[in-house]
Amino acid sequence: LEDAESASKTLADGVGLFRTELLYLSSSHEPSIEQQAKSYTEILKAAPEGPIVVRTIDAGSDKPVPFLNMPAEENPSLGVRGYRLLANHREFVEGQLKALELAREESGREVWVMAPMIATVDEAKTFSDLARSLGKYKVGIMIETPSIALLVDQLAGVVDFVSVGTNDLSQYLFAADRMNPSLGALLNHWQPALIKSLASIAKDAKLAGISSGVCGESASDPAFAILLAGLGFDSISVSRSQVDAVHNALSSLELEDAQKVAQDVLQARSAEQAKATALREIGAR
Ligand code: PEP
Ligand code: MG
Repeated sequence: LEDAESASKTLADGVGLFRTELLYLSSSHEPSIEQQAKSYTEILKAAPEGPIVVRTIDAGSDKPVPFLNMPAEENPSLGVRGYRLLANHREFVEGQLKALELAREESGREVWVMAPMIATVDEAKTFSDLARSLGKYKVGIMIETPSIALLVDQLAGVVDFVSVGTNDLSQYLFAADRMNPSLGALLNHWQPALIKSLASIAKDAKLAGISSGVCGESASDPAFAILLAGLGFDSISVSRSQVDAVHNALSSLELEDAQKVAQDVLQARSAEQAKATALREIGAR
């Protein structure tokens, strides 16, 4: 709630990523649908004007939720997390979507819902059917696994939007644990393989008639935000402290300039080269 209130004091247009698991991390028992709806309503009412993109629970891996009693796993980041919880906790996820629908009606806000950790088109379809049966929101998925990143063109007619989580997409693309600080160089968002993946996601989403955004930490870097605009993303979600800096960076140049930056950055062979190219071109304008 505090985050929603303070985001309202920035230039943000809506909310690009509402991580709902944060509401449950300290609960020892499952909140009722009414309790959840009450919390969501307060937050939706306090959020900056514009659509609010709500992500269904992304528990598991680095985000344990006590009342779900999830068993320990050898490789939790490759295990049961995000959308995969639907298999054993369907009722909880349905309850979450019902609570969100009550909050949407009560607050009168435009709500978009998306599922994390989708890996196949079938999963996207299952989530989309479920969400559409429970509420009147736009429905989307996060692009965090390389498998679904390759199939964005197949999502036409399945979802309304996609939002790339670059934190996890980098983790899975580079097989580099995002919690391990010694792997920072691979997780650098200027890595050419990540940028190339982003370019293809934005292009395929456009061809499929789906709106596309980026909600990983990478978008909070003003120069990277310019690159994302140039690659063709429709929106980005940035951390609250960076909203104004990113807004100013994006307002400082024309879309065509950003497209030129993107074209040149795509030729880079290393993260250092990609970043240097972007900074040089942006600085020259
Ligand atoms: C991401 O993976 O980039 C993302 C936005 O989700 P989270 O950081 O919560 O996993
Ligand atoms: Mg993620």
